[in-house]
Amino acid sequence: MESLIRKNIQQLIAYKVDAPQFEIVVNANESPYDFPMQLKRKFCDEICNTDLNRYPEACFPELIAAISDYTGVPGEGIICGSGSDELIAMINQAFVDPGDVVVSHSPSFAMYDIWATIANARHIMVPDLPSHIPDVEGLIAAACENQAKLLYICNPNNPTGYIFSRADIVKILAAVPSLVILDEAYIEFFGESGVDLLEKYPRLLVLRTLSKAFGLAGIRCGYALGNSEIIDILYKVKGPYNLNVLTQKLAVIALKNCDAILRNLEILRAERQNAMQVLETFPGLTLYPSGANFIYFESDRAEAIYQALLKRNILIKRFAETDVTPGSIRFSMGKPQENQKILDIIREVVYNEA
Ligand SMILES: *Cc1c(COP(=O)(O)O)cnc(C)c1O
Repeated sequence: MESLIRKNIQQLIAYKVDAPQFEIVVNANESPYDFPMQLKRKFCDEICNTDLNRYPEACFPELIAAISDYTGVPGEGIICGSGSDELIAMINQAFVDPGDVVVSHSPSFAMYDIWATIANARHIMVPDLPSHIPDVEGLIAAACENQAKLLYICNPNNPTGYIFSRADIVKILAAVPSLVILDEAYIEFFGESGVDLLEKYPRLLVLRTLSKAFGLAGIRCGYALGNSEIIDILYKVKGPYNLNVLTQKLAVIALKNCDAILRNLEILRAERQNAMQVLETFPGLTLYPSGANFIYFESDRAEAIYQALLKRNILIKRFAETDVTPGSIRFSMGKPQENQKILDIIREVVYNEA
């Protein structure tokens, strides 16, 4: 069988995530708040009036209209995917030939590398400067010297929480010949989007998702915002019915009720601030400011902290020896009581009480 597989796929490790059987799950940056019951009922009613024997809308006009209302971007500048993950795959399919260069800052979102590997691209990961400040000059040089097809800016960045300044984003946009993908998966937590830059920079593409702030990781819905020329190119590689009818219906309900759903952001931001203040008092942690719904830190005790939480049925994300940033931890904000519990356990470990 080995000889039948493409060479770049042989080395890949399948992304199989165990179904989390934990009391508190804060390892994947999801919202701890489930979708409001009242809106779930509305969804059920709509489904009862939907013909499920028919294929879904191939180009999701209702969903595009709802995204347009939410973002202010005209419909011809929007395309949707089964999570922004699928959009990253589509971008690689449309733009990246084998051997082409893709550039990203590192550490960042793992899927950039996975899709680059599948595309047989040469992925240049530009390491952060000290204190996890992305190397903007290094990114520009890597993209220019190699005529990179894609350059990713993850803002706020997963996993470090880093926020790119507007000036740095503009500097990159003005300098590189690449398609610049501004991944705004966590933008609702931060608030300052780069969407308005689309008017001036035709090679910019903004990625968004309903998986994080909207609390809808379960329905798999992401979208890309861009110049209609780029969006038209992505439509060429889009699977005909990539968003099922259930996802389309629920996503429309979510976007039309965004005010109610996004109210939770206030709580999550306050929780992050509180957790940060508590963690700052703990010895042996190197903390980084975060613009997202999670906190990232490095510590000699990272593994001990991870194990102590695991023992208490709590799952966080730890970066082990095989990762770019071993000895570091990322956990997203849960409900206030959950966060309290997590902080208490970390306290026990760092003060050697565990
Ligand atoms: C979670 C996340 C996404 C979203 O992925 P979906 O496929 O939409 O769930 C995209 N980019 C980053 C950086 C993320 O952390």
